Amino acid sequence: MEQRLQDEAKALLEQGKVDYIIGFEPGSLKFTTSPLITKDEGDIDRLVINPFIVNNLSVYLTEVKGRVGIVAKGCDSRSIVSLIQDNKVVREDVVIIGVPCPGLIDLSKVELLLGKDRDELDDITRDGDRVVIAVGGEKKEFPTTQVLFDNCLSCELPTPKEYDVLLDESSPLVTDKAAGREKIEMLEKMSPEERWKFWKGEFSRCIRCYACRNVCPACFCERCFVEESEPQWVSPIPQWQDNLMFQVVRNIHVAGRCTDCGGCERVCPMNIPLRSLTKKMYELIDDMFHYQAGMDKDEPPLLTAYEYEEVEDFIK
Ligand code: SF4
Ligand code: SF4
Ligand code: SF4
Repeated sequence: MEQRLQDEAKALLEQGKVDYIIGFEPGSLKFTTSPLITKDEGDIDRLVINPFIVNNLSVYLTEVKGRVGIVAKGCDSRSIVSLIQDNKVVREDVVIIGVPCPGLIDLSKVELLLGKDRDELDDITRDGDRVVIAVGGEKKEFPTTQVLFDNCLSCELPTPKEYDVLLDESSPLVTDKAAGREKIEMLEKMSPEERWKFWKGEFSRCIRCYACRNVCPACFCERCFVEESEPQWVSPIPQWQDNLMFQVVRNIHVAGRCTDCGGCERVCPMNIPLRSLTKKMYELIDDMFHYQAGMDKDEPPLLTAYEYEEVEDFIK
């Protein structure tokens, strides 16, 4: 796939079909990648595809001007479609280079399984539905379902439906939906008082760095409500009540746009389990409105469509 990606990206730039390519290059740390945004054909050899291409690159589409060729996994392609539905991106300005995604490896799960820090690992490779980890001269194998991110275990569209170029036919992803929602289930089993206590504890740790907002393609307001001073909706001081308020409003804003890419939880430096909120909201929207974000670019966005038969029993 990597060679095909480089050939396609080079051809797109050479033929003047795009002004920029947005993809992934190796990161500065082991087992990481960084976004690569370039108009230079000489950079194309740096493009990679591996189990660590975690960023949802569609977040850059509202910033980069011109025609863009963009590498997109299934969830990223849904975010692009969602941006098209919201008129934030013009379909004709984007060449979607689709990656049939086999799921991404969660290094924290690997560290926990092996009792080793990621810096101590020599290599991590995929072999079908197994992950092979080389450490201290030995090779250890695990089923992929033990080391993939929770959102990948719940993935509904690993192979992009909306694309211009598809780098392979289909994804070998093996999902485990029950494992993918273990944390959510744990919260569902709590009483409201216990849940309140849980989130109070979690949001007491939030440092309001806004990484969760900045990484999210569905958070595209030019001026976020947290930066308003008249009226001031939340205090800029990271107290737990305001931190919770920030996340509650953010979740409502991304409702019907969140594609469960897992980006917000992944970047949180305080390891706050944000996906337990976003994925729960995703499920509620699916149950109530039979709507999944970014599945069809010709469908109106969730909050602009109303059907006469829609129940209103949530209004008390
Ligand atoms: S949710 Fe995970 S498996 Fe699915 S497309 Fe996104 S990164 Fe790939
Ligand atoms: S990324 Fe984490 S710490 Fe930063 S604002 Fe979001 S929830 Fe708070
Ligand atoms: S809310 Fe989180 S999981 Fe949902 S699209 Fe944004 S970054 Fe991805």
